[in-house]
Order: sequence, then structure tokens, then C-alpha cells
Amino acid sequence: MNIALIAHDKKKDDLVQFAVAYKDIFAGHSLFATGTTGKRISEATGLDIHRFQSGPLGGDQEIGAMIAKNQMDAIFFFRDPLTAQPHEPDVSALLRLCDVYSIPLATNMGTAEVLIKGMEEGHLDWRKIAKEKTNERID
Ligand code: PGA
Repeated sequence: MNIALIAHDKKKDDLVQFAVAYKDIFAGHSLFATGTTGKRISEATGLDIHRFQSGPLGGDQEIGAMIAKNQMDAIFFFRDPLTAQPHEPDVSALLRLCDVYSIPLATNMGTAEVLIKGMEEGHLDWRKIAKEKTNERID
């Protein structure tokens, strides 16, 4: 599965902690992240992560483009609901695309726990079928 990891500054410690705790599960997937989040997580875990631009510089939009192409299977996006973000329109656009394409999205630790455990139990296997269908359409 292709998994995206994003955290606003005040939530980065939480996402790093989460990635350390579930490192063994994440290691079995292809990981993508916005710039700073990806750097922090790869330093803490040693996981191989494809890093896009930093969020405010377009990283959220790059991940959004993958969602639009049906190439992203789950998103862990630890948002900071108490701090204004300069790239709020990009954040909203990313959340919106998750809803457009029914992509599982965890925006806080509580949901993230459920999502990663669900992944482990195979509850996201329908994504493989969804991707095969898209590929058939492109071919
Ligand atoms: P960052 O971007 O990982 O580069 O900090 C995340 C964001 O703020 O959207």
C-alpha cells in the first residue's frame, strides 16, 4: 500500500512517536511524506520515505495529486486544529480529495490507531481492487 504521512509542526512529535511504535507495520509499505515530516520520521525510525516538498511549499498538493490518480491508499495527517496554517487552502483540498475518492484518512492519534490496526487485519484490501480497476481504465 502507498501511505502518506503528514503532520503540522505542533503534531510532529506525535506522528514520530506513532511511526516509531508501528515501525514494523510501516516497513511493509511504500511511504510518502511532506518534507519536514518525512525527514523527522526517517531519522527516528530509519524507514525509507519518499519526501515531497514541505507542506506550505506544495507538498500537500503533491500528495493530493497522487490521490487524484488513485495512487494513495491511506493518509495519516496529524493536523493542528489550534494554529492557523499559511497553506490552509492546500490542507482543505487534500482532505476534500480524500472524501472524493474514499481514501482512509486519520487526522488524529485516536483514528490513526484504528486505521493502522485495520490495515494489519486486511480491512484496506479493497484498495487493491480499486487500483486494478483504475489501471484497467487507463490501459
Ligand atoms: P512539513 O509539511 O512536513 O514539510 O512540515 C507539513 C505541513 O505543514 O503541511
